[in-house]
Amino acid sequence: MKIKQLLLTAIILIATSLMFATEVTINGDNYDVTATYEDTSYPGEAFFVRLTIESHKKNIKLDIKATAELSGKKTISKADFYYLQPKAKAKNVTQMLVGLPMWSWQGVEKNTKITVTYSINDEEENSFELPVTIAPKKYPSEVIHLNSKLSDLIGKPDPEKKEQSRILNETLATITPEDVYEYTGFIRPTTGTRITSEFGQTRTFVYSNGKEAPSYHAGLDFGIPTGTEVSACGAGKVVMARWRIVTGYSVIIEHLPGLYSIYYHLSELKCKEGDIVKKGDLVALSGATGLATGPHLHWEIRMNSVALEPDSFVKNYAYQPTKDKVEVKDETEAK
Ligand SMILES: [Zn+2]
Repeated sequence: MKIKQLLLTAIILIATSLMFATEVTINGDNYDVTATYEDTSYPGEAFFVRLTIESHKKNIKLDIKATAELSGKKTISKADFYYLQPKAKAKNVTQMLVGLPMWSWQGVEKNTKITVTYSINDEEENSFELPVTIAPKKYPSEVIHLNSKLSDLIGKPDPEKKEQSRILNETLATITPEDVYEYTGFIRPTTGTRITSEFGQTRTFVYSNGKEAPSYHAGLDFGIPTGTEVSACGAGKVVMARWRIVTGYSVIIEHLPGLYSIYYHLSELKCKEGDIVKKGDLVALSGATGLATGPHLHWEIRMNSVALEPDSFVKNYAYQPTKDKVEVKDETEAK
């Protein structure tokens, strides 16, 4: 399929809204396509791009395929857009969203851009570029000494542990386009504020035999007493609620296609797999099960398998649709 560079022919409007988001509108012959995004993000965080597609004709069913690719010298991440509202039969405005993650050790690159490629109603594919900046961010480092029991837990080969790890990775890599539960920002899963280990920390595990193993901390640890309430950081579907050898009682919630929150070392599960939860719902009690040197909650966010800074989803509302754009009129209902 031929890719037409619409940048050359379309009128591009760049405006900064009150939310400090950047908007780019491509005015085409049949459709106007607006991309809303934050133009700066950090390693260990994500870029979100929201597409608003408006047809010039009324009662047109918009069937859109769209992808976004974040790249510098080479591809950093790539993902398909998903619909924010369920697909309606005849709507002339529709909204789509995509998240593009960056690992915490990803370097800052010059000339970074997001390339959006889309096709509407099987018409010719178009693409445009959004210039973005990956700003520098440093994460701390720590050394953790493990006793012989915990050394064995990490170091000893175990087929059951291997199988649990395979299931975990498979779950986190699952992208279900229709699973849109939460795009209004997260809350922290506990009222406890004592952070015992930051996200992104590079770690050196020192085993009881003196051997060292490099690692990094994929989540955010809250030092809270065993039995403290743990709540869902956002609305979603519980895709895992079970015992795991390394992480003890564990919960995983799916919030958006490819976006998961994880809760480890729990003492008690208060939800089951398949449950639909709201933001703030009780899902477990905290503990010190699995590989834990003391009672704490490990809270982790994964997007397309990439571990991201959990607090960036609490602070950053880039992916939250603005009010005027989210109220979509259904032309069929208006009659
Ligand atoms: Zn942790």
